[in-house]
Amino acid sequence: MKIVLIGPQFSGKGTLARMMERELGLVQISTGDLFRENIKNGTALGKEAETYMNKGVLVPLPLTLSILKEKLKGEECKNGFVLDGFPRNLDQANALEDIVKIDTVILLDAPRDVIMRRCLGRRTCSKCGEIYNTSTYDKPTCKKCGSPLFQRDDDNLDSIKVRLEVYEKETTPLINFYADRLFVVDGSKTPEETFESVKNFLMEKTK
Ligand code: AMP
Repeated sequence: MKIVLIGPQFSGKGTLARMMERELGLVQISTGDLFRENIKNGTALGKEAETYMNKGVLVPLPLTLSILKEKLKGEECKNGFVLDGFPRNLDQANALEDIVKIDTVILLDAPRDVIMRRCLGRRTCSKCGEIYNTSTYDKPTCKKCGSPLFQRDDDNLDSIKVRLEVYEKETTPLINFYADRLFVVDGSKTPEETFESVKNFLMEKTK
């Protein structure tokens, strides 16, 4: 199955996508992670993307599309994937239609107060990418692999404000665009509850 996840920052897209990969065998494709990997490896693409990411604005479409297309070519994506963080506007959604047919779009809906509560507490494992929040886990190392956790460079108040504005303006029109294949799930619940709702929905759909 080919799935797109949409939702504001800190609604839990990354956490849900990782659970879907682990439990349902759908490959997680996060354009943000792909950019961060390039930044870490010092590639030219990473250097260019970083200038936009640090400001909290979208990386231009040609660059984003090139990184996504490369990933989709991989054999592991043939059996299905979860796109986490792409598309983020109508231009990207239209470009995606030309590449692949998306079966289902999951909207993770979370109110502003939940997002603001979560935003400065996010920590990510430097090795396996597991995501935590200091409100529920405040140790400096990953529960799963023991590696150090870090706070993303763009998880600061200035960047978060811009990113939420970009989401409102550019990404929310996708809710109408995908109205024919949209499933809305409450992103303010625990990761396990959210995953359970999504799993039940997908099981019903594939019956
Ligand atoms: P994320 O990890 O999804 O929060 O993305 C972090 C940053 O990467 C965003 O603020 C953008 O600068 C960039 N980015 C990720 N996905 C996209 C995309 N689909 N289009 C453009 N920029 C993106």
